[in-house]
Amino acid sequence: MDAFASVADEVAATTRKLEKRSILAAYLRELAPESLPIAAVFLTGRPFPLSSERTVNVGGALLREAVVEVTGVSPKEYDAAYIPLGDAGDTAAQLLGGREQPARSLTLEGVRRLCDELAACPTATERRALLIGALTACRAPAARYLVKILTGALRIGVQESLVEEALAEAFGRDPDAVRQANMLLGDIGRTALLAREDRLTDARLALFRPLKCMLATAVDGPEEALGIGAEWLAEDKLDGIRCQLHCDGAETRLYSRTLDEITRQFPEVAAGLGGAGREFVCDGELIAAMDGEQLGFAQLARRLGRKGPDEALTRAVPVALVVFDLLALDGRPLLAEPLGERRVRLQGLPLPPLLRATEALPVRDVAGVEAAFGAALARGNEGLMLKDPRSTYQPGRRGRAWLKLKRPLATLDVVVVAAEFGHGRRRGLLSDYTFAVRDGERLATVGKAYSGVTAREIAFLTEHFRRSAVEDFGPGVLVVPSIVLEVAFNGVQRSGRHNSGFALRFPRIKRVRLDKPVAEIDTLDRVRRLWETQGTREGGAGGPA
Ligand code: AMP
Repeated sequence: MDAFASVADEVAATTRKLEKRSILAAYLRELAPESLPIAAVFLTGRPFPLSSERTVNVGGALLREAVVEVTGVSPKEYDAAYIPLGDAGDTAAQLLGGREQPARSLTLEGVRRLCDELAACPTATERRALLIGALTACRAPAARYLVKILTGALRIGVQESLVEEALAEAFGRDPDAVRQANMLLGDIGRTALLAREDRLTDARLALFRPLKCMLATAVDGPEEALGIGAEWLAEDKLDGIRCQLHCDGAETRLYSRTLDEITRQFPEVAAGLGGAGREFVCDGELIAAMDGEQLGFAQLARRLGRKGPDEALTRAVPVALVVFDLLALDGRPLLAEPLGERRVRLQGLPLPPLLRATEALPVRDVAGVEAAFGAALARGNEGLMLKDPRSTYQPGRRGRAWLKLKRPLATLDVVVVAAEFGHGRRRGLLSDYTFAVRDGERLATVGKAYSGVTAREIAFLTEHFRRSAVEDFGPGVLVVPSIVLEVAFNGVQRSGRHNSGFALRFPRIKRVRLDKPVAEIDTLDRVRRLWETQGTREGGAGGPA
């Protein structure tokens, strides 16, 4: 891990991409075959490859406890070190640097084992003990990257695509072949080994190994879409969760957008397929629906995040999978075929009742897009997807072959009641704002947002909130309610996280309203009304249970 740390430091020290790439290539080339896959995965800032469903279950609080234990500093001293750095890894390195250093650090294999053990560990107490053991056995620079890997971000200016390029350079392979193999495997470690052994063409789309999802770019209106392409296939943008289905003819498994297996959460979908007889992989949206009617995301949300099924809930909130793409059929990958052809094959696939295919309507002009958009909203959807019929399926890429058009959303004027320090580039800055609406005499919090403000605004707000802080708490300060924000959002959910009982979905800051007095912010009544009416108004996005 010591060599990994010094390479990561070297990569972080340059902003030039080519230089980063050749530093990485030189390092990867020299690694033994046992260490290469581990290092390749860790360089992407993750403890496990993308296709893995495992997590280390280590959060900021646990890391703080472990560092406090190993170094003997107080939690307050930890916070004082953390706030200006804004990164748990940098904090660990700084605090651990102050003690006597072990002769060498855990090896890459040792860190890999630690990750395996953490993922398998059921209790926080045991995970804490594992962390303490590992941090004790690491020199400060290695501890920095160990912690960064556990938290899921190295922050050295390296994306997975750069690791792919570095592997191509290290072993003299075609960068496209490396990219293609990694796309199919979803595992940069195995890709690294194949690149080393010149066996990249062995990578195949495999059943029960989920692929990254193809993503869409947002457009503001039909004109923008038609500026990008001449003909589109228009589909309803359903409000559920992304779901990839793998079926080998007898067994069916479902995977989420994050490539986690979710079959057990939605047993009726797999059961409904039964022995489908055909082998296929398809991509779709899992929605809550009863008798063909969409129930909205708020209903679906009740079924998310559960380990196993709950029969009463399964009956109350039935789901359906609406499929929009076919990625493989009868052992043949279809990723490189144009969407138009994949759709023809999809339509030809006999699907059971719980699975249905989206309709894809060709549109060529503004009137066509507008009509399709209006019809999608009228059917209770979130918006419209526009897809280029000639496009191939590009896993993990957000390109212009898929566009999304969403309806304009409601906005609320809210007041900031707490501000937290940010991470990474926003470290030391109060850039994460918890905000509230008015509920009679009291303020009731409804959400937290950090996106949508400029660097200048953050600098101004940091200064302002430092002055108006009434109380420090771990990650930030409670402030005198004085700054009004206009926030946009996608819906309203019931939530125990805020004292209003509601949370805005995907809130983002539209404007800092210095012109607006706190007395004029929106009320909890308005939030409640939005929640009540969104079932019809926002296309089934929620509504009362
Ligand atoms: P967003 O999450 O706003 O970036 O929108 C993209 C998401 O819309 C995808 O990841 C899908 O989960 C979802 N979606 C809903 N309907 C469709 C559709 N017909 N085609 C593709 N994605 C869809």
